[in-house]
Amino acid sequence: MSDLVVKRLPAESGTSGWEAISKRCFPVRTLDGDVSADWLIIGAGFAGLSAARRLAQLRPSDRIVLLEAGEIAKGTSGRNSGYMIDVPHNLSSGEYSVASEVATRTEIAQNRFAISFAADAAAEYGMSARTFDPSGKINAAATERGLKLNANYGRSLGDIGEEHRFLDADAMREITGSSYYLGGLYTPGAVMIQPADYIRGLAAGLASKADIFEHSPVLKLEHLDGMWKALSRRGSVTAPKVILGVNGHIEDFGHFRSRLMHIFTYASMTAPFTAKSTGKDRWALLPADPMGATVRKMTTDGASRIVIRTRFTYDWTIQVSKKRLAGIAAEQRTSLDARFPDLKDVPFEHVWAGRLCLSRNHVPAFGEIEKGLYSACCENGLGTVKSTLAGVMAADLATGTRSDMLDRFSDQPEPARLPPEPLAWLGVNSVIRWQQLRAGREG
Ligand SMILES: Cc1cc2nc3c(=O)[nH]c(=O)nc-3n(C[C@H](O)[C@H](O)[C@H](O)COP(=O)(O)OP(=O)(O)OC[C@H]3O[C@@H](n4cnc5c(N)ncnc54)[C@H](O)[C@@H]3O)c2cc1C
Repeated sequence: MSDLVVKRLPAESGTSGWEAISKRCFPVRTLDGDVSADWLIIGAGFAGLSAARRLAQLRPSDRIVLLEAGEIAKGTSGRNSGYMIDVPHNLSSGEYSVASEVATRTEIAQNRFAISFAADAAAEYGMSARTFDPSGKINAAATERGLKLNANYGRSLGDIGEEHRFLDADAMREITGSSYYLGGLYTPGAVMIQPADYIRGLAAGLASKADIFEHSPVLKLEHLDGMWKALSRRGSVTAPKVILGVNGHIEDFGHFRSRLMHIFTYASMTAPFTAKSTGKDRWALLPADPMGATVRKMTTDGASRIVIRTRFTYDWTIQVSKKRLAGIAAEQRTSLDARFPDLKDVPFEHVWAGRLCLSRNHVPAFGEIEKGLYSACCENGLGTVKSTLAGVMAADLATGTRSDMLDRFSDQPEPARLPPEPLAWLGVNSVIRWQQLRAGREG
């Protein structure tokens, strides 16, 4: 028997603007009492909800229960920038695409598989183009170095026959209304989601197929006589098989300790505005340098907002302070004003941070980690896609549903071990800081 007490729960910093402007249309249910199920999923983000959808497809008569510590879309899955990216997007090496041609093709195939799974869900659950928009994205360059990075990236996409188009400074100005950018690289395969709407849409769509309990953190996980029992505040769930979709918090379940990098990134959303020089109604820019600023505009009923995301910090306690959040929001104000001087009088309405989980060797924490206990964690910074994939793959693995995709996904090494703390903290933050300084005007 294994018996595990979960001592640390997720702590959110700031309110996600996406969640604040999203409407919730289903009630909150909290676990109250002891229930039995065929499947228990822990965590209701991209990984957990995708696992639930896949299980419901594979085992339509089984009872699926999902326990979420917080509330749907208030965690990281509802506080990201919403880029579902098909092409390589490696955050840890200073360039997005560094792998061999074969590895790049595999990664693109995996990302597209996940995006197509999400697209099917979006269609089945009636999500609008505002929630799920297959518009593609632009890697925007504000410096000569950024242009070079885009050129390298375009070359590596061209080498494998991937569609892409370079944009000059005029084209960038026409799209964004800003003269800040020197050029861009457009790739058509990305889907832009309103993350909180998408995650809520997924949960609402699953309502008849899975029991989703929110404000129901797993505080203890026991294994006895082939059954898992998860204890929450006011009840428990017993099931033979459990899928963990808790991302970096898998450490708190006793697995992959000292192997996962807990990285935070930060975002701010403006108040709504009309008639400012910000170009087209909707656009989505990633930075040409991975350490730069992600900037996205959307317009609803004639009112626009811009979301800016910058900075990465390594925080092994999986928490960040309000002071840090405020300091980075002030930096983001400067970055936004440099791009859009006309927006100086439009305040930020929401400021927030959220967690990523990276491994040194850029692999997930995936597989059957104890008998009947499966992990779909460590998304390496692109969780809209990678956690969707991990959730689907965990459901396939746990039901014995074989495929080439699963064979390849399972055939990855474990996340590599990190140096002990505080050495890892010092080392990772120093590298990030240096890369951020090098990014300069891209940030
Ligand atoms: C500002 C920002 C911008 C980002 N932009 C992008 C982007 O554009 N594209 C992209 O792909 N990714 C982006 N990301 C990353 C993306 O949001 C994450 O990779 C993704 O949310 C990971 O999904 P997940 O389901 O694996 O984990 P999570 O979203 O973290 O979900 C895990 C869930 O498990 C729950 N949980 C944890 N412990 C317990 C417990 N004991 N009991 C019950 N439940 C528990 C948590 O409450 C949480 O809801 C961004 C992140 C941030 C913060």
